[in-house]
Amino acid sequence: MKACRVCSDEFPATHQYFHKHKAGRGGLRTICIPCKKIENKRDRQIETIRASRRKARQKFDRLHPEQRRAGRAVSRAILFGRLIPAHESSCAYCEAPAEHYHHWSYHEMYKLDVVPVCVVCHSAIHAGELEDRPKQLPMF
Ligand SMILES: [Zn+2]
Ligand SMILES: [Zn+2]
Ligand SMILES: [Zn+2]
Repeated sequence: MKACRVCSDEFPATHQYFHKHKAGRGGLRTICIPCKKIENKRDRQIETIRASRRKARQKFDRLHPEQRRAGRAVSRAILFGRLIPAHESSCAYCEAPAEHYHHWSYHEMYKLDVVPVCVVCHSAIHAGELEDRPKQLPMF
């Protein structure tokens, strides 16, 4: 008998219950066929979700080229040491460790004019719950 590593049920160690796997002990997988089916299905679902996120991201980039350019400018500035990585500073709003840079404007002129923010404050800014624009500067 052989126990499945996922459901822990014991099955005879045959190809009827476990898929072949050359590298596995006894030439069999450690996961039973029913569990493998569920796992495959879940993997496919995850892949579908990833693919649709990727697509949404690409669509967003197409619709917001200036935002994409501004984001890339920030990544480049970090790469060349002109800007410290966001996670090395703290959030401009709540002092928590920062994880993102927020652009108050994606305009070419302000593409490196960013503030470090934590995830919570960042989503609050985009939800309009936090004021992000320095008042003395013109809005674009
Ligand atoms: Zn199983
Ligand atoms: Zn914060
Ligand atoms: Zn932002």
